[in-house]
Amino acid sequence: MTLHTGRHFLQIPGPTTVPDRVLRAIDMPVLDHRGPEFAVLGFEVLAGIQRIFRTKQPVVIYPSSGTGAWEAAIVNTLSPGDKVLMAETGQFATLWLGMAEKFKLDVDVLPTDWRRGAPLDLIEERLKADREHKIKAVMIVHNETSTSCVTYPLEVRKILDRAKHPALLMVDTISGLGALEYEHDAWGIDVSIAGSQKGMMLPPGLGFNALSEKALAASKANTSTRYYWDWHAMIANNKQGSFPFTPATNLLYGLKAAVAMMEEEGLENVWARHERHGAATRAAVKAWGLDLVCQDPHAYSPALTAVMVPDGHDADAFRKVVLDNFDMSLGAGLNKIKGKAFRIGHLGHLNDLSLMGAIAGIEMSLDLAKLPHRAGGVAAAMEVLKGRDVAAMPKA
Ligand code: PLP
Repeated sequence: MTLHTGRHFLQIPGPTTVPDRVLRAIDMPVLDHRGPEFAVLGFEVLAGIQRIFRTKQPVVIYPSSGTGAWEAAIVNTLSPGDKVLMAETGQFATLWLGMAEKFKLDVDVLPTDWRRGAPLDLIEERLKADREHKIKAVMIVHNETSTSCVTYPLEVRKILDRAKHPALLMVDTISGLGALEYEHDAWGIDVSIAGSQKGMMLPPGLGFNALSEKALAASKANTSTRYYWDWHAMIANNKQGSFPFTPATNLLYGLKAAVAMMEEEGLENVWARHERHGAATRAAVKAWGLDLVCQDPHAYSPALTAVMVPDGHDADAFRKVVLDNFDMSLGAGLNKIKGKAFRIGHLGHLNDLSLMGAIAGIEMSLDLAKLPHRAGGVAAAMEVLKGRDVAAMPKA
C-alpha cells in the first residue's frame, strides 16, 4: 500500500470533504434526545435548515440518505396509480423514476440523451394536454450528479403556472442545496429533497424534505400507508424541538456548525463561489481539448463537471492513475457513461487553491495516463480564478 502524506483530495461529487469545524462540532457526547438541552439544538437546526432552503415552511429532517428523502416525498403525497411526469436526465433521475414505478405510480418518462437538462418543451406540452389534471406531480432532478447538467426548478414552476396546472412540483436538489442558488418558497416548490453529504459539507446520514402548504394538504388527503416517513408525526414533534424517533443527534451538531459556516460566508457568496469554480474547471477541460458531458452551456453545473475521455480510452483506468499517484478520488461515469467519463466534484468545502490542486492533479495524470490532450488546463483555470467578478465569468 502506498503511504500518503497530506490530505486526501476527495473530489467526488459527494460525499464531500467535511470541514474541521464541522468534525469538531460532531465530536460531542451523545445527548438525551428527549431532554431540554436537545430541544434547544432541535429548534436551532430546524430554523437553520429552513434558512438554507429559503423557506418559512416546515423542513423535515430524517436520519437517512438522499434516497430515503426521495421515498418520503413519494409516500407522503402520492398513491399507487397516480400519474407523475419525470424526465430521465441521467442516472439519478433514472433511479428515482424506478422507485416511483416500484410504488406503482404511473410514470410518464420524458427521455433525454443524458447531456442536458429536462426537456422543458415536452413538460409544457404534456401539462397543457392534461386538461383533466391527471398528472399529480412533476418530479425533476435539479443538479443531475451523473451528467453535471442543471434543470432550473423556476423554469418548471413557470411552465406549471402558464399551464395553470395544479400538479405538485418536486425537486431533487440532493447535490444542489448548498452549492447552487435555491429558493424553495420564491420558486414555488412543493417538496424539495436534499441530503447532508454534498453541498451541506456534512457526513452522509441526514435526508431533508422541505414542504409547501399544498404538499402538506396532499399528504393529509393521501391515505396510502407510511410510518417512518410520515411528515405529520415529524412536524408535530418538531414543534417541541424533538423527533418522533431517535434523530442522528451528533450529525445535528454538525448541521448547526455547517449552517453557521454558510451563513458567515453568505449564501449568495456560497453560490457565487461554486459558479466561479465551475467556470474555472470548465476552462481547464476546454484547454485540455476534452469534451464535457453536458452539451448545453445554460445547464452547466456549478457543483461538478463531468468529462468525456477520448474514444478508446478508459475513464476508470484514468481515475486509478489519479488515485494511485496523487491520492485524489474523482467520480466515476455512471451507467450509460461508465468508463467513458469521469466527474470532478467541486462542491462543498473548497477554495481556489484546493480546486487548483485538483486540476493540477488531473493535468499531471492526463500526461501519466497518456490520454490525448493539450497542456494548459491549469493556466486556463488560474486565469478564471484571478478574476473575482462572477458576472464576467465565462459560461462556456
Ligand atoms: N439524487 C442525486 C442527484 C444524487 O446525487 C444522489 C447521490 O449521489 C442521490 C439522489 C441518492 O442519494 P443517496 O446516495 O444519499 O441516497
